[in-house]
Amino acid sequence: PRKIFSGIQPTGSMHLGNYLGAVRKWTELQKKRENITISIVDMHSITMPHNPPTLRDNIFTMAATLLACGIDPSHTTLFVQSSVMEHSELNWILNSLTTMPRLAQLPQFKEKSRTVRDVPLGLFVYPVLQAADIMLYKATHVPVGSDQLQHIQLAQHLARAFNARYGDMFPVCNAIIEENDGSRILSLREPSKKMSKSDQNPKGTINLSDSPEQIIEKIKKALTDFTSDISYNPGMRPGVSNLVNIHAQVTGQSIDTVVEEAKQLDTAQYKERVSEAVIEHLRPIREMINKHLNNRNELIYVLEMGSEKARKMAQATMAEVRQRLGLGISG
Ligand code: ATP
Ligand code: MG
Repeated sequence: PRKIFSGIQPTGSMHLGNYLGAVRKWTELQKKRENITISIVDMHSITMPHNPPTLRDNIFTMAATLLACGIDPSHTTLFVQSSVMEHSELNWILNSLTTMPRLAQLPQFKEKSRTVRDVPLGLFVYPVLQAADIMLYKATHVPVGSDQLQHIQLAQHLARAFNARYGDMFPVCNAIIEENDGSRILSLREPSKKMSKSDQNPKGTINLSDSPEQIIEKIKKALTDFTSDISYNPGMRPGVSNLVNIHAQVTGQSIDTVVEEAKQLDTAQYKERVSEAVIEHLRPIREMINKHLNNRNELIYVLEMGSEKARKMAQATMAEVRQRLGLGISG
């Protein structure tokens, strides 16, 4: 049977890219009664300078948002990464199976390290922690957006390297990345980049908690080009195509249908239509986010239950790992 694992950083609140590229997929897998574990990976959120009270708030907001999107904790194991110490332990062990050149060539590292002068070691090794996240639960499948492909390949490499050195123990995981364009939603302001929580410019990102007014404003100011009609051509017209893609994703229509129906509209009119569609789609989710945020005790309960389940799996894996490596004195 498949074992599915995925994670999301509580660096900020969940945006449309996270939702369309990953979280929506998780809820679909959940409907198919798959075995699924989702982690709010807070230890990944400290690899860049951060504000502690904000991080704590973001963890709860992320939990509320995941529940609002339909993650059902009675079926899916939902937990906060730092509540399960074994993540850092396996990370340390995998560090010795990883080489520096391999990490230095990862595109996300190249992109994020450009924004800081002295690169923190944590930012450099975080893909190894991500491999540990996956391997601790012996996951076979990892549903993610397309920006994570190289990190999944590293996790595959590390599982193979571990198995070769210490004997077969970890499955080599498969990435589940949708073929459709939902797997890569672009920044509204800089459509050469993906939409990101850690983007310096918040105006390029639509958060699930944004008010209708904020959504209208952000889409209105989305960078497009000097052609006023609507067409889908991601290479030549990334800005407009990103809006078409978002529109298709939230309405469940095909790209062709969306473009066909926008034939009479210019860019400004089309932006209004896209805003309406996004607002409609997010309305019930936004209401549920607020409902869950108003009940922090429920969130704490859900996350504690999730941590307990996750910890059991992680502890079993680590007992085996320590024994295989000859660490310690038991087993
Ligand atoms: P950060 O900027 O802090 O890295 P992020 O926006 O990249 O944040 P993550 O928490 O790193 O979000 O990723 C959570 C999931 O969302 C991953 O599966 C990732 O592939 C997916 N994802 C992130 N951004 C996009 C995007 N723009 N389009 C589609 N999927 C995305
Ligand atoms: Mg990311």
